[in-house]
Amino acid sequence: MLIETPESHYDLVVVGGGMVGASFACALCKAVENNSLSILIVEAVPLSVNLSQQPSFDARSTALSHGSHRIYEQMGLWSQLAGRVTPIKEIHVSDRGRFGSTHLVHSEHNVEALGYVVENQWLGEVLNEAMAASARINLLAPAKVNQASPLATGMQLQIESGGNNFSVDTSLLVLADGGKSPICSQLGIEQSISDYQQHALIANIAFEKPHNNVAFERFTDTGPLAVLPLGSFESENRGSLVWTVSAGQSADLLALEPGALLELLMERFGNRLGRITHTGERFCYPLTLSVAKEQIRPGLVLLGNVAHTLHPVAGQGLNLALRDTAVLVERLQLANERGGPLGDMAVLQDYLDNQDFDQRRTIRFTDQLTRLFSSNRQVSVVARKLGLLSIDLMPSIKHEFAEQAMGLGAK
Ligand SMILES: Cc1cc2nc3c(=O)[nH]c(=O)nc-3n(C[C@H](O)[C@H](O)[C@H](O)COP(=O)(O)OP(=O)(O)OC[C@H]3O[C@@H](n4cnc5c(N)ncnc54)[C@H](O)[C@@H]3O)c2cc1C
Repeated sequence: MLIETPESHYDLVVVGGGMVGASFACALCKAVENNSLSILIVEAVPLSVNLSQQPSFDARSTALSHGSHRIYEQMGLWSQLAGRVTPIKEIHVSDRGRFGSTHLVHSEHNVEALGYVVENQWLGEVLNEAMAASARINLLAPAKVNQASPLATGMQLQIESGGNNFSVDTSLLVLADGGKSPICSQLGIEQSISDYQQHALIANIAFEKPHNNVAFERFTDTGPLAVLPLGSFESENRGSLVWTVSAGQSADLLALEPGALLELLMERFGNRLGRITHTGERFCYPLTLSVAKEQIRPGLVLLGNVAHTLHPVAGQGLNLALRDTAVLVERLQLANERGGPLGDMAVLQDYLDNQDFDQRRTIRFTDQLTRLFSSNRQVSVVARKLGLLSIDLMPSIKHEFAEQAMGLGAK
């Protein structure tokens, strides 16, 4: 439920009601349905705003893995989301102008779909509605957490909302405020950052032929280019373009007149979807790999982009954060049943130990893929060709690649 004035204490406070914070709050709320646990979520952007202005629920689309589908199902939200998601039945990975490609097909992995594409705004609508409808979740928005400081047990927050300042204590602060977190800096938590010197140019595109639920990942000499299938609109075949370009190129591409952009896209992507007929509004995101050097402290846990921001090349950022969320919720539910403090280091360490392998593997997978497929050095080209061939020819490698893409088996 939406509130205007917070209490002075909550068992748990989430800072950031973006994709990760809101998903976490909904998952926890579902898991502790029968227990008493007070939850506050603080979000800086008003819920009434056109969602495209919200940094999480903007014009992008997200590929949810098969594993994330199951997580939203457990949260009881899949039935709402399902009305507007597009299944990915096949993933086609190729290298522009070179021999070598691989195909992942859902039937080979005994799943109905390898993943699902959801428009971020729709995900935002479903999550916001669920939070507002829950009597358990106290949602304060627009409100900004300006400061967080440790207490003997838990954390204290300074919150600004509607021209008022509030001080709130909590046993556990879940920090889900995104990749540029001033709170993290205040607390002296450092990030290990590697700047890819690349930007993601995103736009919705329309094309001549139906996509038949195929997601395309094409590696070009300027960087990877993905087209995710979207539901058709006004009988137009639609897809979501995520085009990785060098940081220097992005301003030119944003400014390019639509006809010239269409031509360039056709040249990069080829005609597997027929003629590209239209591109929608374009947006640009600078790309870094950023990993927090500490993810837990007594009474504090980092979740989502603030814990790890990944390159979008393999569509793993939210999917990894949802797997983190599922495990954290499970551990907190157990701690709550035992009556122990939620912010206890043993509880948080147990969560992190459980997710450490998955996080490292996903970060390495994404980073290696980005570097391999963004380089035109001959050694990378050969490695790429061999990589694509071996993925296609060797069932065990293909299976592992598919498992990572589907967000499964990362243990
Ligand atoms: C181009 C692109 C494509 C992507 N595609 C995929 C994909 O296909 N699949 C996938 O799994 N991942 C994908 N990702 C990654 C995914 O978008 C991120 O993992 C996800 O956005 C992380 O969400 P978050 O909630 O952690 O952070 P954010 O989205 O940044 O949200 C943070 C929230 O916190 C709020 N906030 C910040 N500071 C405060 C404060 N002090 N007080 C209160 N509120 C605050 C903000 O308003 C915001 O709502 C993609 C990323 C990009 C850039």
